[in-house]
Amino acid sequence: MKLRAGAATDVGLLRQRNEDTFVAEYPLFAVADGLGGHLGGEVASQVAVETLIDVTKAEGPDDGIPDRLRTAIHRANEAVGERASRDSRLTGMGTTLTAVVAGRDRMYLGHVGDSRAYLLREGELRALTEDHTLVQRMVREGRLTPEQAEIHPQRSVLTRALGIEDELEVDQATVEVAAGDRLLLCSDGLTSMVAEEDIRKILSGHDDPQAASEALVEAANAAGGQDNITTVVVDVEDAADPPPAQPADAAARTIRPRTTTRRPSGRMRRLAVTVGIPVLLVAALLIGARIYLDRQWFVGIHDGNVSLFRGIPTEVLGVNFSTLVEESQIPAQSAERLQTWRDIGDGITAGNEAEAREILAQIERDVSLQGDVPPSP
Ligand code: CA
Repeated sequence: MKLRAGAATDVGLLRQRNEDTFVAEYPLFAVADGLGGHLGGEVASQVAVETLIDVTKAEGPDDGIPDRLRTAIHRANEAVGERASRDSRLTGMGTTLTAVVAGRDRMYLGHVGDSRAYLLREGELRALTEDHTLVQRMVREGRLTPEQAEIHPQRSVLTRALGIEDELEVDQATVEVAAGDRLLLCSDGLTSMVAEEDIRKILSGHDDPQAASEALVEAANAAGGQDNITTVVVDVEDAADPPPAQPADAAARTIRPRTTTRRPSGRMRRLAVTVGIPVLLVAALLIGARIYLDRQWFVGIHDGNVSLFRGIPTEVLGVNFSTLVEESQIPAQSAERLQTWRDIGDGITAGNEAEAREILAQIERDVSLQGDVPPSP
């Protein structure tokens, strides 16, 4: 198979670090979007991609690729988890992973999380992956429309990621490709900012895969660039053994989903039998909630000082949903005297760590400007 690829990644306009990692080297193309505060996200996505590169280097016949890819993703899952357990600063880190391995005449896809793969064929864009998010599950269950899901405040809550649990379910598919096909792998920093129809137009409007990758990143930034953006575009110039022509209505059959890998432990299996699926669903929701909490930040009060927290400023039935990250020297009382910050006790939420640190810095500036003014009556 003859391929031509391009790739681009950008920190976006609001984040301070780029936690996305990609690889675009024949035969492996992948995007990983890390999560977890501080260094965690970056490390998680890098560890996952490096492990994947190592494992997929193994030579072998094409029909062994799906197994090797699955093994590689499980290996990457272990590697991220191990790395996190060795370094307390990396606790709770995880990553998405969407990867394609080119065989002689087909592509093999492996996917976990909310990064995505698309196929552009004859001007039509088709999704090859389904997001592992709570909102996507609710769409499938008919509880949300796809339009509602797109703007849902909890749309980034993942139900699956690498590095979080020993057990990992990997979606796999074999993609039959033909000359002229174009594949796109991307992180949610693209799809949360740019509508699929616009992605289709941009992909169709640039012949060169590198130019297309960059144009997509530019579009995401033009729309606000709220997250890191990564795009990998792979053009099939020559499929060695092209698939037979298919009828126009055979779109669904082009992608043949393989049996999803599921390796439940004995304990999980027994749970499923005795307690049933609701428990597994709750477990999935808890994992989702944990990933969600790791992505949230706020500024609140700890021991009388203004402090930085990860999580959400909420307590339910005595259970805290936050961890202290940093306690400043700013007395909470000095901040509460100021009109702007008088509700700091309730917690001021931020979209990410950078934003939370900016709020902290602003409070510090405001308090030092105020000087030692006695509290207003
Ligand atoms: Ca992201």
